[in-house]
Amino acid sequence: MQRTIRPLIYGTLCCWLGLSACEKEQAEPSKVDEDLQPYFERFDVEARARGLDFSLEMEELEADILGIDQDGVLGQCHYSDQAPNIVEVDDQFWARATDLEKEYVVFHELGHCVLGKDHNDDRNTDGTCSSIMQSGLTSCRVTYNSSNRESYLDELFE
Ligand SMILES: [Zn+2]
Repeated sequence: MQRTIRPLIYGTLCCWLGLSACEKEQAEPSKVDEDLQPYFERFDVEARARGLDFSLEMEELEADILGIDQDGVLGQCHYSDQAPNIVEVDDQFWARATDLEKEYVVFHELGHCVLGKDHNDDRNTDGTCSSIMQSGLTSCRVTYNSSNRESYLDELFE
């Protein structure tokens, strides 16, 4: 919905105001919801910190925050050879999640949509999940905090 409505609104504003600066921005309308953009940028920063560059893959992505009807599903990655990959994050989750919870879900979906990773339900000896790419369908415990974030990101990008 947002994807189709937004360019129309911008287009209309440009006509009314007649601003050239506005037209410049219009040349590359973002296909990523603005609330998701900081997390996409972080993903890019973390990839580059590890000598990786996914800017091409990320440029082709679309991303939205919307209602996902499936119970317990916080995010989705739709991928296809014929269309851009699309990341979707559930709006109710987004409204109540902490910064790290948002990062976790966005990075998980980018793990699918950008890194092409499948689920990984390996667990550590203490029962915690070994990977951000855990499916949520097993009993491994999810812990993602400021002290273990780096090692989870190392695992994600390795
Ligand atoms: Zn997944």
